[in-house]
Amino acid sequence: MSDRLSGIFGKLRGKGKLTDADIDATAREIRLALLEADVALPVVKAFIHTLKERARGSAVSEALNPAQQVIKIVHEELIAILGGEGRRLQFAKTAPTVIMLAGLQGAGKTTLAGKLARWLKAQGHQPMLVAADLQRPNAVNQLQVLGGRAGVEVYAPSPGNGVGDPIQVARDSIEHAKRQARDIVIVDTAGRLGIDQEMMAQAAGIRDAVDPDEVIFVIDAMVGQDAVRTAEAFRDGVGITGVVLSKLDGDARGGAALSVRHVTGQPILFASTGEKLEDFDVFHPDRMASRILGMGDVLTLIEQAEAAFDEDQKEKMTAKLLGGEQFTLEDFLDQLVAVRRMGPIANVLSMMPGMGQMKDQLSELDDKHFDRVTAIIRSMTPAERTNPKILNGSRRARIANGAGVQVMDVNQLLNRFADAQKMMKQMGGMMGLPGGGNRRK
Ligand code: GDP
Ligand code: MG
Repeated sequence: MSDRLSGIFGKLRGKGKLTDADIDATAREIRLALLEADVALPVVKAFIHTLKERARGSAVSEALNPAQQVIKIVHEELIAILGGEGRRLQFAKTAPTVIMLAGLQGAGKTTLAGKLARWLKAQGHQPMLVAADLQRPNAVNQLQVLGGRAGVEVYAPSPGNGVGDPIQVARDSIEHAKRQARDIVIVDTAGRLGIDQEMMAQAAGIRDAVDPDEVIFVIDAMVGQDAVRTAEAFRDGVGITGVVLSKLDGDARGGAALSVRHVTGQPILFASTGEKLEDFDVFHPDRMASRILGMGDVLTLIEQAEAAFDEDQKEKMTAKLLGGEQFTLEDFLDQLVAVRRMGPIANVLSMMPGMGQMKDQLSELDDKHFDRVTAIIRSMTPAERTNPKILNGSRRARIANGAGVQVMDVNQLLNRFADAQKMMKQMGGMMGLPGGGNRRK
């Protein structure tokens, strides 16, 4: 464990050019990761093709080794494909905005209807739900329960009204919404277990009756390989303007996200993450990219860090720790620079094992903050870096001035450093050598 930790702090070996062999080797790994994440095969092929093109054309990085560099490109490319910054709901110029939900039975449409209603209401909208799934006996009731929970009106065919015609119900609901001055109408529709013509025709009929601003295709993230076929059927049968992935609280690696994006070309708007109305969030492409690649895997980082660790540096640091030598600001700076080179701080942190104690301090570090800390240490004299005890008020003021920060920032850094120093001592302790002492191999 200590070895691993020290690995993370290591310097990256800034070597390497992106040769075809490097790219191919990493692309093979990526291909496996994507298939494991249940991305459909044609989508994997297309992605790998794009990846290779981009990797070949990319400038060689000083800080990353070839495999890391390819993985970085993969990550960026995945985020871009999954939607970059993402897109918001499209609202109609004149109210009401009509949102129609479509998808297979059990995909999570009705649940999503309740979630969306609650979410939109919390933002000050006046949403209304429409029960246009008259297929299953309980479907209307399910929506009414959810609407009740969300505190939102549910438009449903009245009991004496027979089974009713879902297309008629949908059409009438829009008039009703206008009379009630609702600004958003969410239309829940029926689904079948498999794709069939009758169901598609009904969905298309509802679409024509309500003229939706958004047709949201809801898909269960667990479906995996089937995502492509289902998405194609809805794309062609109803037309899709946006996607919601449901059941992301499960253990699916999220390959469906990539497949659906590939097939529909439409943005993923939201993620549904549980049965409760609150289990819902806007979609975050970066999180999904990490999930698909399994980048949260501690192992990945350890491998990267170990591969990247400069052996000399490692020896030096270990000797220091084992010898009980003092961990200085100079070492701290080395570590900061090394960690910084591994990529955006948040990503690096999210992969670090056993960093519980430091996480709170570090999580507030954004990249800019990181650079500021580096500037502060660089503004110190070697003597000050070795022995921060001599840093009195006037020295601190001089350093703050030199680094272009406030004295408060310098103080904060010195406190943080004292904590890190303590931790390094503990790490020495974990190796069975509290406070230094004899070296053991
Ligand atoms: P519909 O047939 O498309 O309307 O699907 P439903 O909304 O009725 O959902 C089918 C089942 O999946 C229900 O039991 C829901 O409680 C459940 N469900 C829906 N969304 C989620 C989700 O994001 N996570 C989990 N764990 N369950 C969900
Ligand atoms: Mg339903």
